[in-house]
Amino acid sequence: MDLAEGRIKGAALREFLEWYRATFGEGDLPHRLAGAPTLRSLPNLDLGLAGCGVLASGWYDADDIHLLLDAIGRDRTETEVRKLVTVGSQAAVTRTLTGLHRTVMRVVGSPKLHARFAQRLWSTYYDTGRVESVCVNEHTQSITYTDWTSHHPVLCTMTTASDSVIFALMGLSGVTVSQVSCVLDGAPGCTHLVEWQ
Ligand SMILES: [Zn+2]
Repeated sequence: MDLAEGRIKGAALREFLEWYRATFGEGDLPHRLAGAPTLRSLPNLDLGLAGCGVLASGWYDADDIHLLLDAIGRDRTETEVRKLVTVGSQAAVTRTLTGLHRTVMRVVGSPKLHARFAQRLWSTYYDTGRVESVCVNEHTQSITYTDWTSHHPVLCTMTTASDSVIFALMGLSGVTVSQVSCVLDGAPGCTHLVEWQ
């Protein structure tokens, strides 16, 4: 097993796990994690609690989060995982950015501000990785992550899906996101496009 470096903030993860539990039932995650190694940086992980006991303000080892995400992907096709992660992340980010962390939208409240402050937003959730957010034209933004040591395919889908919520919260309509490249396919970075009307 690859050991991933880096840590991941609990905020969006907690909301995602809460959505997951409500959608797939309380027994699903415990069943999937049965026999999994102990998640050392998640000593309070309690699949029976709201948010599974993950603290919004906590920072967790990427290895532990990867184990959790691998368990969610087990016995599911890539398409099924992508679909559930997209819907779940959109729900999680909507709750996060319209709740306690809504002030974040003042910092990245337009595509131009996003291009300037994407790194600050990123650093709220990950302690490694660089972000380049570029206004391609008046309807398109290109966003690339590099040196993201805690990368995981599910997290990559999550961050892409999250931008459909973040850009919609800017007041843009018809927002769609599309993945262009991923380090898992040998690309130097993970790039996605955000487009709107
Ligand atoms: Zn990726």
